[in-house]
Amino acid sequence: MGRVCKEAEDAAVAACNGIACNEFTNCNGIQCNSFTGCSWWNVPCHVARAACVAAMAIARAACWVARGVCVLAAEAVKAACMIAAAVARAACELVNFVLDIVAFVVELILSIPILGGIIRTIWNWVTEIAWRAFGLVDFFLSWAGIRFRKKMYFGVIVPSVDGVVIASDADIMNQVNAASTFYDTTCNINMIFSGICHTGVPPPEGGLTVSCDATGFFNDWWLPGSYFEFASATCKFTDGFRRVIGYGAEIIIFIVRNVTPDTGGSNTRGCSFSSTHNYVVVEAGPAVSNFMASHEMGHACWLPHDSGTNLMNGTVPFTNPTLSALQIATIRWSKHCVYI
Ligand SMILES: [Zn+2]
Repeated sequence: MGRVCKEAEDAAVAACNGIACNEFTNCNGIQCNSFTGCSWWNVPCHVARAACVAAMAIARAACWVARGVCVLAAEAVKAACMIAAAVARAACELVNFVLDIVAFVVELILSIPILGGIIRTIWNWVTEIAWRAFGLVDFFLSWAGIRFRKKMYFGVIVPSVDGVVIASDADIMNQVNAASTFYDTTCNINMIFSGICHTGVPPPEGGLTVSCDATGFFNDWWLPGSYFEFASATCKFTDGFRRVIGYGAEIIIFIVRNVTPDTGGSNTRGCSFSSTHNYVVVEAGPAVSNFMASHEMGHACWLPHDSGTNLMNGTVPFTNPTLSALQIATIRWSKHCVYI
């Protein structure tokens, strides 16, 4: 089901529900308030009073009729509005589904080792640069602090080894919740989570242990890259077309067992090759900062390493990370972060 189709229908239904008759609401207020103090002998006054009461009664009845017509008309318009929203949703879903089928076939081709991998790398950078060129004005607005609400889709894929998932949903949700809250409050981005998928695709060793260096980069052109692409195509079928065209492409967090290098006491816990992929990899567990996925998503949106309490510190903070205005603008400028 297309996510944008559902979001649009929800907004349309809310608008339809707002349709109501707000006129003729005070019919009972139509009363004759004149000639109320007639002396007993003042016959003309009593006649005028009776005429006034009768006239107001007629006016009141007319008001009730008008009210009834108004309410019926509003209900009819509301029903038509709901039907139109449902029809538009169905049409949207159909188009979305066809696009996702096409995207699925494209992703299967991109799953082919070497050839698919090279095309994928080039194409992902082409779409990123194209959408950034398109969103240049928005980048400067964001930098200046004018940040209208944008949205970003993200989801998690976790593999199993010998029938056992390599990370618990609880550990994964710590990463998910931290990213949702952090990007919402810091960048005014509505983070839309597409769920945790327990993929049945068996990972090769390179899909479980990822080298965050040139080895890892070129591994993506071989079997590990095929695994990431194929698991994405099957696990995250919905809106797969967005990953292909780039605009609003979902960022997929792949849970891995280990990210290397782990030298000199440094323990690498996550990796992103920037726009090369639509995925980042993270380890999930009690020893890992909850902001690890947020940090890798920052890399996916072009942020380099920073220092101090910054989210992009190479040693990811465990609490209250920060971002500069330029970093916020750079993330909001990414192809993953969109208005529609
Ligand atoms: Zn990093």
